[in-house]
Amino acid sequence: MAKHLFACRICGVVAASTAREMMVQLRRALRQTQTIELRLDWLRSEREILRFLEGLRRTRGRATYIATCRRVEAGGRFSGGLVSQLAILQLAAACGCQWCDLEMETAARLRSARIREMLRPAKWLVSFHDFAGAPARLGAIRSALLRSKADAVKIAVQCDSLRDGLRVLALAKERNNVVAVPMGEAALPLRVLALREGSALAYASAGQTTAPGQLTLEEMKPLYRADRLDRRTRVYGVIGDPVAHSLSPLLHNTGFRVRRINAVYLPFLVPQQSQDAGLRDFLRAIGPLGVRGFSVTLPHKQRILRYLDGCDPLAEQIGAVNTVVVRGNGQLYGYNTDYVGVLRALERRLQLHGSRVLIYGAGGAARAVAFALARAGAVVAVCARRPEQARRLARAVRGEVLPRSRLAREFFDAIVNATPTGMHPHTNASPLAARELNCRIVFDLIYRPLRTRLLKLAAQRGIETISGAEMFVAQGVAQWEIWMGERAPEPQMRRAVLAALRREQKEAG
Ligand code: NAP
Repeated sequence: MAKHLFACRICGVVAASTAREMMVQLRRALRQTQTIELRLDWLRSEREILRFLEGLRRTRGRATYIATCRRVEAGGRFSGGLVSQLAILQLAAACGCQWCDLEMETAARLRSARIREMLRPAKWLVSFHDFAGAPARLGAIRSALLRSKADAVKIAVQCDSLRDGLRVLALAKERNNVVAVPMGEAALPLRVLALREGSALAYASAGQTTAPGQLTLEEMKPLYRADRLDRRTRVYGVIGDPVAHSLSPLLHNTGFRVRRINAVYLPFLVPQQSQDAGLRDFLRAIGPLGVRGFSVTLPHKQRILRYLDGCDPLAEQIGAVNTVVVRGNGQLYGYNTDYVGVLRALERRLQLHGSRVLIYGAGGAARAVAFALARAGAVVAVCARRPEQARRLARAVRGEVLPRSRLAREFFDAIVNATPTGMHPHTNASPLAARELNCRIVFDLIYRPLRTRLLKLAAQRGIETISGAEMFVAQGVAQWEIWMGERAPEPQMRRAVLAALRREQKEAG
């Protein structure tokens, strides 16, 4: 294939309502990439557009600028007519934009020679957008765009499945002038993999996102290293709903970066409503994407079991899998590392054998905690708002069931909160009252926020506290080691996660 059309293939999208904010975003974007799309249609008036372009002319930057002034009928924000649109693009070309993006709806009304003449010296990128869904005849659309004789073509369509997303990426194969943009959260991992699949560009926002599922430049570059991925890159990820704010990509990609491993870890949204259809869509994409392993989070930890070819006996006993290895022959093998996470967090502080530990809650995480503790020789007590659920779990680990009314009168070596009470954004709630905390250690599985109300109450009573962040890091490190077959750079992975959580906490005030 011919060499790349753009020297920097990650394209930062600059879009704001004022010239001033556009400039701020532009400066920020230039720290990450040298290819920038300028969304002139986002500016609130033609006066602001002129002001911005005048500023751009003075900067005399060396970056590659793509000017876009998309009209409302093509999904943009420019409400002026075709003549003003073209006049703005002409001016952008005169102010240093080497490329102009002109949508198919407008291009169809003019001869291509005329467009080229008007935009000279800029090159012309013709774009097609479908925000409703991926049309059946994508190949025909690509052919029509290529016939326009533009210098590059862009096809951006909403994809509600990985299958649709892969169809979009296939359009970029064997050409160096096709930009394939699978839009929507379900296709977000494919935006990261687009360059590897041959797309001439991958877009990422420098400020506000301008299309569904668009990533920020900070995610695209330092986090996913999208411009470094190639056919040999091993793909990993997490499946769940929601996954957009998962810290697992940060944890695992930090490990890959530190150890210089050619691998990437991505968030795959598998929606809760369409569990089986969503899981099947993901599983079908494993081969084409080269997925070598994945984490499983809510709500799929139990359901994934039915799709596995084999499973670690302990994970089977717990009834939940959070880690899957894709073996060479495509077979799937499951593990549960939440179990490891619990042990690593508690063992450092407590001789588990013979200790008495209360688990509050009896859901999926509580099961992993209960099995881990029972295997380590601890006596497990379970308390949950649904007594039957508590009884079932206690029976499975030969533990005891306690009614809530007894907690204030009992003593434990440790209390583990395995309910979501107190999790962001309900940070003022606590699953247990201060008088119910009669123990040496309180371990809250929640990690958003780092210091939950429960942990604050415990600290006020002089009790040692453990944040769920410890378990989160430990379960992730165990996954990483299963997949990589070597020791993980745990200190760096932990530091990255804790720094992100502290940043979040600070921003939340
Ligand atoms: P789950 O399967 O939905 O179970 C939640 C449990 O909490 C159920 O027993 C549920 O009772 C109970 N519960 C929910 N709201 C309650 C309330 N207001 N009062 C009393 N009990 C309540 O969820 P999970 O997977 O076990 O996760 C539980 C927590 O652990 C979550 O906050 C999750 O983020 C955290 N977790 C952390 C890690 C980590 O790495 N740190 C790993 C896994 C999970 P009902 O059945 O009656 O609703």
